[in-house]
Amino acid sequence: MPAAIIDGVASAQHLRAEIAAQVSARPADLRPPGLAVVLVGADAASQVYVRSKGVATRKAGMVSVERHLPATTSQAELIDLVQSLNADPEIDGILVQLPLPPQIDAAAVLAAIDPDKDVDGFHALNVGRLWSGEPALVPCTPRGCMKLIAEAVVSTSGLNAVVIGRSGIVGKPMAALLLAANCTVTIAHSRTADLKKVCREADILVAAVGVPGMVGGDFIKPGATVIDVGINRIPTPDGATRLVGDVVFDEALAIAGAVTPVPGGVGPMTIACLLENTLTAYRRRMAV
Ligand code: NAD
Repeated sequence: MPAAIIDGVASAQHLRAEIAAQVSARPADLRPPGLAVVLVGADAASQVYVRSKGVATRKAGMVSVERHLPATTSQAELIDLVQSLNADPEIDGILVQLPLPPQIDAAAVLAAIDPDKDVDGFHALNVGRLWSGEPALVPCTPRGCMKLIAEAVVSTSGLNAVVIGRSGIVGKPMAALLLAANCTVTIAHSRTADLKKVCREADILVAAVGVPGMVGGDFIKPGATVIDVGINRIPTPDGATRLVGDVVFDEALAIAGAVTPVPGGVGPMTIACLLENTLTAYRRRMAV
């Protein structure tokens, strides 16, 4: 029997509708949640992401504030802007779109964001809160992956989970969330010995690498849940391009129990979880 396809588009639509309903059900005298997105420079992919975050924020009934700065912006200027957003009583969430131009140290900028407005969950305080089991703003992509896993797996307790990739954006927080969900977690990476063998032990396999089609059917335990985080643009024979994941989808379909497609899997959940984090930050600030 082919694997079930986990529908990230439907899950994200459902979550976004739920968030919009909660925003519109707030007490009449309260302002709506506000999300500020800061873009430095004119990177084409970043512009698309920022635009779609703005649209999604407004659709949820929230206020979207977009601040575009030139590519020549200095680190001090960007941190000044972050600090003014930290102090703005109408802003609940701040997201600085990565990557930043080379003259700016991204770590210094992320460290300047008020941890209670850090809706990307990248501030060291939120990283520490996540690993120590305290309430944290959790990075959006791994948070979305956990929601998709919950659709495919009745209980994660005691399952073997393997995460390929150890970035601070996906791999490490993903591992922390799986650990918190009582999985036995392995973080695999570019130096892992016998990666295929490690992956074939996984009841839950999360690929967050950025190498198109790296995870073939021979990486997958029969019946496993496979979450493909990779977003890779590859050329097609007709000279156009298309998006593929890190997993060979057709091979996964033949052997896994459930698998996310690319596009239409993890991607849509990331923005939905950004809105969810903004709502969480708003609720904490407004004590509602
Ligand atoms: P990254 O480059 O920071 O990290 C990649 C990780 O993969 C590294 O930890 C590295 O050790 C590991 N790796 C690289 N080559 C490997 C190999 N041959 N074998 C095993 N491990 C290897 O990337 P990232 O930011 O974590 O993103 C990973 C992928 O997920 C990218 O394709 C990115 O576009 C995608 N992504 C998707 C979303 C989404 O919303 N769906 C969000 C973030 C990232």
